[in-house]
Amino acid sequence: MSIKFDIQGRDGQARAGVLRTAHGDIATPSITLNYTKALESWGFVPSDISDARDVILLRNTFWLRERGAEDIREGISWAGPTMADSGGFQMVSLGKHLHQNFSGIGFNLNGKRAFITPHEVVEWGKAAGVDLIMPLDNTVYTMDKNPLKFIWSAFMTAVWHRRSRGIADDRLYYISQGGLNKLARLISLWDARRQLNRGIPAIAIGGLAWNEPRPAMYNTVDFCVKRLPDDKPRHLLGICKPVDILECIKRGIDTFDGIAATREGRHGRVWVSGGKYFDIRNAEFEKDEQVLDPLCDCPTCRSNISRAKLRAGFKQKDHETIRRLMVHNWHHNYSLIKGARAAILSGQLDYYISDYLRNR
Ligand SMILES: [Zn+2]
Repeated sequence: MSIKFDIQGRDGQARAGVLRTAHGDIATPSITLNYTKALESWGFVPSDISDARDVILLRNTFWLRERGAEDIREGISWAGPTMADSGGFQMVSLGKHLHQNFSGIGFNLNGKRAFITPHEVVEWGKAAGVDLIMPLDNTVYTMDKNPLKFIWSAFMTAVWHRRSRGIADDRLYYISQGGLNKLARLISLWDARRQLNRGIPAIAIGGLAWNEPRPAMYNTVDFCVKRLPDDKPRHLLGICKPVDILECIKRGIDTFDGIAATREGRHGRVWVSGGKYFDIRNAEFEKDEQVLDPLCDCPTCRSNISRAKLRAGFKQKDHETIRRLMVHNWHHNYSLIKGARAAILSGQLDYYISDYLRNR
């Protein structure tokens, strides 16, 4: 089934909509659950977020293919919509002796030579029943000093996108690349508009989230959104810290993914209502009988387990404690986004954001 997107309300540049997929509708703005190897290894299962509705489960095409998986839902119980990213991002960070050409990316992984083509990425996604497919894209470290690299990445991503067409066009994204470089972005967005006019249903903004200064990242999101058609869903790749989610919803992003919430939880750092953030290892929590966040209704906070107990468990590297912290942080983002959606529909988004950020 082809992706469909309906806009239900607007507040400034922000919008609240519904993204329709073969496995259900997602009320936007929304966030994915990035179901990574790290989550699996800490015992996190998708049913840990079963209270949450309107969630897309995201998995990585490259790692699933490496495992021999033939279905995006392999090994998990998940009836809702799914998204698969190609793994180009991980290849850049993990692969040794990376080389790339018009046909794809080659690299060494665990002593083995691997090559991945844009065509294969989409073919696997189609065969594996993925609802929202990210093509193979070419990304560059955002703070790289060589402007030509950004132009190259936008150009190569465009070439690979052509090689991704004709397989599952009705659920394929176009990924805009180009880092913070405006010329590269203009090239990428020009090609994106052409592909969107030719039936590609959705766009993702990639090439950010590499530690660039926040204002520069927000400006780039704004720059891209203003040059994209209004009626297509917009995904922001790899960004999910609460403040960034709010700032980018305001600029017109509909869906987010990222691992920051669960990664922070794994390291004992907790996000709580009112934009606050703390480290559960701090001595001040040794005898703290409160739940992590009294205003949160996630499974961890509802179970009434105290900060003191979570602190003790974390110090012993207890898997169950770490899973609980990850579940809480993910739910924090989920509630934040659902609140933002309600705020857009009632024309109160600016107030909602400033209220959240006021106490930071
Ligand atoms: Zn909670």
